[in-house]
Amino acid sequence: MKRQNERIDAHLARCGVNRRDFLGFCSRLMVAAPFGLALTDRMTPEAVAATLSEARRPSVIWLHFQDCTGCSETLLRTSQPDLADLLFHVISLDYHETLMAASGHAAEKALHEAMDANDGNFICVVEGSIPEKDDGIYMTLAGKPAIKVLEEVGQRAGAIVAIGSCASWGGVPSSGDNPTGAQGVDRFIRTKPLVNIPGCPPNPYVLLGVILEWARYGTLPDLDMQKRPKFAFDRVIHEHCPRRPHFDAGRFAKAFGDDGHRQGWCLYELGCKGPDTHAACSTRHFNEIEDVWPIGIGAPCVGCTEKHLAFKVPIFEPIPIHNATPPETYPPVASPQGTVTPLATGLVGIGVGAVAGAAFVASRSFSAESGDTSVPKDKQNDGDEES
Ligand code: SF4
Repeated sequence: MKRQNERIDAHLARCGVNRRDFLGFCSRLMVAAPFGLALTDRMTPEAVAATLSEARRPSVIWLHFQDCTGCSETLLRTSQPDLADLLFHVISLDYHETLMAASGHAAEKALHEAMDANDGNFICVVEGSIPEKDDGIYMTLAGKPAIKVLEEVGQRAGAIVAIGSCASWGGVPSSGDNPTGAQGVDRFIRTKPLVNIPGCPPNPYVLLGVILEWARYGTLPDLDMQKRPKFAFDRVIHEHCPRRPHFDAGRFAKAFGDDGHRQGWCLYELGCKGPDTHAACSTRHFNEIEDVWPIGIGAPCVGCTEKHLAFKVPIFEPIPIHNATPPETYPPVASPQGTVTPLATGLVGIGVGAVAGAAFVASRSFSAESGDTSVPKDKQNDGDEES
């Protein structure tokens, strides 16, 4: 039988999850959100595990609209089978159309039971864009337009998370002429706390970090202007890209499979959008596997977290660099630079003065010999005419 609002530690004990696995899960959460998330900010994995254990398992109602289910996949496709299991021990996923067995009237019943049991407290995760055009006729659920479903569920939630680029601003369905009038969640719901986690797909640990902070403290992380959590979206990919030294040295791959591409050179000329894309992909890879992220496997960043880039600027078209960011490799300002004494500056001044004086004398004698007066010929003539 499902137990509502059970504490995470009680649930883990009841289900026989061992402490080592739970600590591993907390460590991964910290890799995704090392700073800036109240749950993990400057804490050890043990401290995160202890803090998280006291939280109640948050109820999550997951809605699907115009999507490819890639955001759900990113949550489930972990490299270790146990990790996906563990994830569902920590949150209570009470409604998810593609994972639940129920369909039709049974699914509708499950949705209303989940809302009634956690009214005002559940997290509503929205995956996919919402079609607005022609009164939303391009997508209906249980006979209702998607907009109405979103409003009904969203208004009863404690907070809403728009997962993926489609739910954040329209994403893939909004590209080109946007035939269905695809929009993001914040176009329709303005009265609830909302977090956008764009990405195609987004990093699942960023979502977990946001949900679990809400469950433990009832707070959401600091957000940027586009309602993205700053802990994951405060830097552009270019700042921490492992190919950045090649960019700075002017070494660019010119074609897929050429020598530069094989040697891991910068992908800017192949259309990489990393210099204008706020995301943490370069430091927090996918599927718990090192280097599993687009640039890590030799593909240029498509800017999937940026509304002005993703699915709008062609993948292989280079972009202008607006904000030149310094590489990580500059020496810090405070590093030892040696010292310059007044005596040294005096000696250098004497030396420079002697060289300049000698050069002046030499140029005068050269001018005298060659007849050059250091004035362009046309101007010399002008002067002669005037005199
Ligand atoms: Fe990395 Fe792209 Fe920047 Fe090159 S342009 S350093 S591949 S982020």
